Amino acid sequence: MKDKRFVVYRLRKLAILLRILGLDVLYSQNEDYISVINFAGRAHRILISRVKFLRKLPWIFYLISNDLDEQLEQIVKGLELKIEKNNLFTRCSACNNLLQEVQEEEIKNEVPNDVCRKGYWFKKCSNCGKIFWNGNHMITLKEKFKKLNI
Ligand SMILES: [Zn+2]
Repeated sequence: MKDKRFVVYRLRKLAILLRILGLDVLYSQNEDYISVINFAGRAHRILISRVKFLRKLPWIFYLISNDLDEQLEQIVKGLELKIEKNNLFTRCSACNNLLQEVQEEEIKNEVPNDVCRKGYWFKKCSNCGKIFWNGNHMITLKEKFKKLNI
C-alpha cells in the first residue's frame, strides 16, 4: 500500500491529531458501525477502531489504549507511518481538505486581532473556510509529536 488512508469512527480528537500530522483521515460519528466498516473496506482505508471483536478484519487497526498519546504512538509505530515534517499542518483538522497558505493581509479581518503582526503563518481551508496559524497551541502539539519522535 502506498500512502495509507484512514477512517476514524467516533474518536474525534484522534482524527484531528492525525490530520494535523498530514494524514488523510475521514471522520465519521453518526453512521452505524457496519456501514463504516463496509465503507472503509471498499475505499481501501484503514479503520481505526477501539472495538475488540473487529480486530481480525484485515483493514481494521485495533487500538489497545484509551489514552490519546498512546493511541497516536501505537498508530505511528504499528503502521510504520513515516511522518514528514513538511506534511505537518498541511491538512484541515476540521474537514481533511488540504490547506493553502495565505498572506496575513488577505485574512486579517477573519482572525482575532491579537494573532496579527506576530509573524505567524496562516493557512486557509478552501472547503470549510477555517483559518489556521502557528500560535501557542502549536508549541504544545510539537512537544507531543517530539515525544513520539515525529
Ligand atoms: Zn476545512
